[in-house]
Amino acid sequence: MTGLPETTQLLAELVGFPTVSTDSNVDMITLLADRLAQAGAKVEIIADESGRKANLWARIGPDVPGGILLSGHSDVVPVADQAWATDPFDLHEAEGRLYGRGTCDMKGFIAAAVAMAPVWAERATRRPVYFAFTHEEETGCLGAQALVKLLEGRENLPSIAIVGEPTSMRIIEGHKGCFEYSTHFTGLEGHGSSPDHGVNAVEYAVRYVSRLLDLKEQLKARAPEGSRFEPPWTTINTGALVGGVAHNVIPGRSRVDWEMRPVQKSDGDFVKEDLKHFCEDILLPAMRAVHPEAGITTEVIGEVDGLEPATENEARDIVMELTGANGAGVVPFGTEAGLFQDLGMSVVVCGPGSIEQAHKPDEFIEVSQMQECLGMLDRLSRKLG
Ligand SMILES: [Zn+2]
Repeated sequence: MTGLPETTQLLAELVGFPTVSTDSNVDMITLLADRLAQAGAKVEIIADESGRKANLWARIGPDVPGGILLSGHSDVVPVADQAWATDPFDLHEAEGRLYGRGTCDMKGFIAAAVAMAPVWAERATRRPVYFAFTHEEETGCLGAQALVKLLEGRENLPSIAIVGEPTSMRIIEGHKGCFEYSTHFTGLEGHGSSPDHGVNAVEYAVRYVSRLLDLKEQLKARAPEGSRFEPPWTTINTGALVGGVAHNVIPGRSRVDWEMRPVQKSDGDFVKEDLKHFCEDILLPAMRAVHPEAGITTEVIGEVDGLEPATENEARDIVMELTGANGAGVVPFGTEAGLFQDLGMSVVVCGPGSIEQAHKPDEFIEVSQMQECLGMLDRLSRKLG
């Protein structure tokens, strides 16, 4: 079994790359690619258009279906404006904890998965193990969305995915999605004394928000049976309503920033379909009766699918067996898991470290969590031969 010292050494190297989401992650991805390639992996580095960001996709073992994917994001949240006791990009060990930005979220898991490369190479003779390390998860799963697009339609994709976000090694089989939108209203400016000669973009935005409030109520009745989410239904939040300049001016432009957190894909479709008809059949005809150029456009800021709990989930069954857990839960935070579920994989989120420490100053991971993770991966590797 690959030991803790090698894993900690690799984690120190990974923490040393300041891969804040807005900055380049290419050096870290290159190092991981080298380590995997040395063990005989077939590695692909997929850069984005800028060349400053890259995803890694790699396989150790035969090119056959039924593989197991280990997935993690390479980026970390910023350290600016946080008071750290030590250099966040210099791994520091004290009292059974490893301190550094990204230790729990989620370079600890990546280090464990890659430090074991020689073990995977020896044992993955029947089923392959895959690695997906992505960019810009923290700013909207941008890397994973690009990766999933690339993988669509490929043959022999893995059938199981373990996303190693920090769950204290608990098994998570569900989380909500996160869809964010900005809806822009273009009306016609005019003098406040003649409201019928203008198209008041703020008033139309208010009617739109009012529709969002109706939908917010309707979604409660659509909560799936036995939903364990908190709250159990899909939520909508209006985050900002922006527009207008003065009391006596009809505002020509406005914007509504809103989000929805779907517990199931069909709720997202339900809301989008309803709003489409509301705009096309009610708001736009009224706006255009006064000003034919009036319009409503919705800009998609991000649509990251949730992880829908599934009755049959091979990933959950295997990881339960490997960890001895007797159940699986749901969490309120989002991950890349839903994207892999969309590709037809059975998926769980399970990784070392606590989400309590993520994104905070003096982020750390307990050494015991790293050991637990290595133990789980070691048992997993025995399933591949
Ligand atoms: Zn994370």
